[in-house]
Amino acid sequence: MNIVCPHCDAINRVELKESAKDVVCGKCKKSLKETHPVELNARNFKTHIEKNDIPVVVDFWAPWCGPCIMMAPQFEEAAKHFALKVRFAKLNSDNYPEIAGMYGIMGIPTMIVFKKGMEVGRISGAMSASQIINWINSLI
Ligand SMILES: [Zn+2]
Repeated sequence: MNIVCPHCDAINRVELKESAKDVVCGKCKKSLKETHPVELNARNFKTHIEKNDIPVVVDFWAPWCGPCIMMAPQFEEAAKHFALKVRFAKLNSDNYPEIAGMYGIMGIPTMIVFKKGMEVGRISGAMSASQIINWINSLI
C-alpha cells in the first residue's frame, strides 16, 4: 500500500506485514511510523489526503483559537494509537484559508477524516484524546 512520508511527502509503497520493525521512507530514510501530526500546506495537502492508502485525519485549527491550542496535545496523544493505521495531520486555516474554504470549515477546531481523498466524517469542537480515538475507530 502507499504511505506518504510525513517528513518529505514522498509516496512510498510498503508492505504492512513488517509490524515488528520500523518502516522507513525510501527517499529521506526517516520513519513512516512517525505519529507527530504532519503540518499540511498548499503544496502537500492533496498528496497526503489523496495518495495515502491509510485514512488521514486533518485538524483544521488556528493559533488564536483557544480550544484548538487546548486540543493540540490531545490530538498528538491520540495519534500514537494509530501509527501506520491513520495519518494525523494539521492545517493552519489562517495560513491556508482557501483550503479551509474548499471544505466549508465554519468553526474550529474541526476534524475531518479522509479515505483516499473522500471525506468519511467530520466533527467540530475540542475533544480529549480518548474521544478522538473513539471517534476515529467508529469511522475506519
Ligand atoms: Zn521521506
